[in-house]
Amino acid sequence: MARDASVEALLALGRDVLLPVYRQREMILERGQGARVWDSEGRDYVDFGAGIAVCSLGHCNPELTAALIEQAGKLWHTSNVFFSEPPLRLAQELVTASRFAERAFLCNSGAEANEAAIKLVRKWASVQGRAPDRRVIVTCRGSFHGRTLATVTATAQPTYQEGYAPLPGGFRYVDFNDIAQLEAAMAGGDVAAVMLEPVQGEGGVMPAESGYLREVRALCDRFGALLVLDEIQCGMGRSGALFAHWQDDVVPDIVTLAKALGGGFPIGALLAGPKVAQAMQFGAHGTTFGGNPLAAAVARAALRRLASDEIAANVRRQSQAIRHGLAAINDELAVFDEVRGRGLMLGAVLKPACAGRAGEILDLAAAHGLLLLQAGPDVLRFVPALNIGDADVAEGLARLRKALEALRAG
Ligand SMILES: *Cc1c(COP(=O)(O)O)cnc(C)c1O
Repeated sequence: MARDASVEALLALGRDVLLPVYRQREMILERGQGARVWDSEGRDYVDFGAGIAVCSLGHCNPELTAALIEQAGKLWHTSNVFFSEPPLRLAQELVTASRFAERAFLCNSGAEANEAAIKLVRKWASVQGRAPDRRVIVTCRGSFHGRTLATVTATAQPTYQEGYAPLPGGFRYVDFNDIAQLEAAMAGGDVAAVMLEPVQGEGGVMPAESGYLREVRALCDRFGALLVLDEIQCGMGRSGALFAHWQDDVVPDIVTLAKALGGGFPIGALLAGPKVAQAMQFGAHGTTFGGNPLAAAVARAALRRLASDEIAANVRRQSQAIRHGLAAINDELAVFDEVRGRGLMLGAVLKPACAGRAGEILDLAAAHGLLLLQAGPDVLRFVPALNIGDADVAEGLARLRKALEALRAG
């Protein structure tokens, strides 16, 4: 694939000026519309990644763009020492939509939302008079909760933690979906919270088994611990319900959101239920940018759409279409062991013969006009816009098939 000189120059710039913590694919994305993206040389891509489950209403969604432009002409930023209407309304709408929360804290990212959740758990425990060594937070192996020092410690995957010791204390890890292990981990009575993703994202697109979250809730109640659900990736409609835990029939104490919440504009949120809504008082936490009017205005427009029946229906429809498409590809090429996940958060687990080759498949997919993600070296991850249409799904699957044929040929 011959590249023009300006693209080569930008790729070289990327290699020179950015911390080399990512390995970007070799093109420069320039514009997007719906579930399609174009690079600077005019090639089009079907987008099955949506900026890591962020652009849930597609690129340049007209309603979101209109909300952004309208707010941009009024007021961008006030800090949180003054009120403006968009964050107040957004907080109200999130609290109401959640069916459990009393209050919200708005921030800028997933890691910040989880950092706030960890601090809220600790503060709640402290207000209750629990000693610091009895404020343990249990998280699950294979989880992903963010990259700040506390959230990467909550992230029970050694690769993300390597080289960052000393890590903050007070975290304990158990296997996901193993209720006996969790019970043993809580038996000492020193656990203040259990924190987990209803569908693990980065850890391989692994859903909670049916009934697991209800049992976790029961253990939390028995041992006086809070249930914190990280719905940063699986929430906001992606699972087929606005909140993934609705499908598990549990009431959490804290939920964190980000990714799709702003439809591509950075924003995060923590939702606090009755037990913890008053635990942090004046001065206990803060953020300069969090919930600024621009971000909040876009998130309000996104939430209105993401909470709609049309989105839920389309998630079901396209989830089926992708599952069927992957099954058809698999009948012919035999590359996947299983397809798992919920709604439009699907993971195709590579067969042992292809294990470890997800990155290579993503390169081939890009070369065939498909933006795809992985979840670890062995899982292809499908998290397209929730309003993606039939034609884009079909075209994306056709391009994936070509990429996988190329894998087999090459
Ligand atoms: C992406 C993600 C985060 C971290 O969000 P950032 O905005 O990257 O800080 C936390 N938890 C889950 C489940 C995520 O998918």
